[in-house]
Amino acid sequence: MPTTILSRCEAHGLRLTEQRRIIARVLDAAQDHPDVEELHRRAANVDDKISIATVYRTVKLLEETGILEKHEFGDGRARYEAADRDHHDHLIDMTTGDVIEFVDPDIEALQEKIAKRLGYRLKGHRLELYAVPLDRDTPA
Ligand SMILES: [Zn+2]
Repeated sequence: MPTTILSRCEAHGLRLTEQRRIIARVLDAAQDHPDVEELHRRAANVDDKISIATVYRTVKLLEETGILEKHEFGDGRARYEAADRDHHDHLIDMTTGDVIEFVDPDIEALQEKIAKRLGYRLKGHRLELYAVPLDRDTPA
């Protein structure tokens, strides 16, 4: 059974107000990488008394607890996803801001090889590809 953000909060002994529960449920339902404003919009659909400050404080707390992972995909906005997701990397479509997830075993192996060559054992990495669609690219 996959763990939910809600259950991980409980495991960490975090006190969850009703508003925080709603925000946790919104995060659990997210299939994308929403920023605070988008999370606020979704949470406010459930309870319009939830302020953006509450969303901001809640994601900050969840990030500090290691439940959420923060990303910045080059536009200066912090985006979030559950930290216990299976490892994957991201390609960012610079024309739309869409974020596409991928895993490539060759890249994984190459990174381990590079770390090893430099005398290290790889414990993690982040890879972000910034790209434009081939049919939208302008020739140099
Ligand atoms: Zn992701």
